[in-house]
Amino acid sequence: MSDNWTEEELRASVDAYVEMHRLEAAGQPFTKKAYYEDLADRFGRTVKSYEYRMQNISYVYSLQGRQWVSGLKPARNVGSNVIQHLERLIAASEGQKLGSNTDFDATVEKLRRKPPASLPKGKKKPKSVQAAVTQYVRDAEVVAWVLAQASGHCECCEAPAPFVREDGSPFLEVHHVQRLADGGEDTINNAVALCPNCHREFHFGANKRELARKVRAKIPRLQAASEVNV
Ligand SMILES: [Zn+2]
Ligand SMILES: [Zn+2]
Repeated sequence: MSDNWTEEELRASVDAYVEMHRLEAAGQPFTKKAYYEDLADRFGRTVKSYEYRMQNISYVYSLQGRQWVSGLKPARNVGSNVIQHLERLIAASEGQKLGSNTDFDATVEKLRRKPPASLPKGKKKPKSVQAAVTQYVRDAEVVAWVLAQASGHCECCEAPAPFVREDGSPFLEVHHVQRLADGGEDTINNAVALCPNCHREFHFGANKRELARKVRAKIPRLQAASEVNV
């Protein structure tokens, strides 16, 4: 980082941003300045420099096609290595359940390129950690309706569900085109039934934004969703 931000300070800034983002999506009040002041107290930089850093984080959100915290106009005045670093910290901070570009994945990638000479020993008794994650209460009627509508075929690639569940029903997953965490609505106008492959691609594919555009263009009910500004 050009101005020598420590990992700890960057992480704290990203955590603050993710929290503001979550509060805003939930319609709860918060004061941005209070977050900057808290960071300034902890790390001794000016309040203004945290505001700039938050605008870099908004820039990363904008690259991901996500809504940024209002009032924090995206600013790209950092290198692509910093962008990637911020991306990893955001994913880690949000504790994305599907597993994404977290520090863990970065470590796996590093080891994949330079595998250790001996067989991995692993852990006979893996440790567990408690993690606080924000979960949204999803509407079961929406999921049931979308699955019925799809009648066993992925609404993206149109292939039949890859397998049936124990109860004989086709296995498809219901995905929100605009993420609930970004203020997306939990309605049939924002939900699609996907095969597991397409679902993963919607989350992790290089072409995920293209895919979202494709299903929106293809499925009329998705055009009725009230999209939050991006
Ligand atoms: Zn599919
Ligand atoms: Zn999904």
